[in-house]
Amino acid sequence: MRAVLCTSGFWLRRAVCAGHRTTSLYPVEGGSCNHGRVPVYRDEGVVLRTTPLAEADRIITVLTRRTGRVRAVAKGVRRTSSRFGSRLEPGTYVDLLLHEGRALDTVTQADIIAPYGTTIATDYARHTAAAVMLETAERLTGEERQPALRLFLLLVGGLRTLAAGERPPTLVLDAFLLRALAVSGYGMALDDCARCGEPGQHLSLSVAGGGIVCARCRPHGAASVSAGAVALLTDLLRGEWDEALRSDVRARREAGGIVAAYLQWHLERGLRALPHLERA
Ligand SMILES: [Zn+2]
Repeated sequence: MRAVLCTSGFWLRRAVCAGHRTTSLYPVEGGSCNHGRVPVYRDEGVVLRTTPLAEADRIITVLTRRTGRVRAVAKGVRRTSSRFGSRLEPGTYVDLLLHEGRALDTVTQADIIAPYGTTIATDYARHTAAAVMLETAERLTGEERQPALRLFLLLVGGLRTLAAGERPPTLVLDAFLLRALAVSGYGMALDDCARCGEPGQHLSLSVAGGGIVCARCRPHGAASVSAGAVALLTDLLRGEWDEALRSDVRARREAGGIVAAYLQWHLERGLRALPHLERA
């Protein structure tokens, strides 16, 4: 079993609990480091955002698989000689060893699982779509350390698809946003009326009312939407990509506008990344 060096310079031995699939660290015999009292944990996550701290450090915000959203200090990361290199850039999927702190955790070790952020950075449309995904993931995880596994899996899947570059970035983004909202409790009604549940194909949108509404429930001033846009939204939500890719530009633009309006309504403040988004 590989031993790792903790931030205080003591060797720690890694032990895995098969039942809980967690990794804990204990001091190698003879060591007196109190890090052995399990304030060190391992998790994998996607870097959502980084903020400069002091001269050479950064605070990284990560959505992790098991722990939820955490903020951690990456020491010396802004130095060119940093051992972290570019491993903690936004959009990177990393395996992290973290040292639990009172206010902020500290990154002890970081290994790249997939460099989605740097792969996507070369293409403006994909880069701006990824920025909206990362910001949305942060905003939809209201509290730190609340596990959000489904959101995490959606984010990794969305970034992987963007990085592969085979599908239009705005469609990948809209599919992610619809599903991310749904797993966060803000699912948009697309089939039955959002208000009375009347089945059928309705073509009025009530953002405040939770989605598509029937003619009777339609509030004053509600927007009319096209059947093509509603069908596209439904396909994106269900992951029916063959169908979604057959949609035309008009439906895509309209569906994108609906998703953006719905997202903005459910977040308290507007997204910083959204105005930069390049829509076809
Ligand atoms: Zn109704």
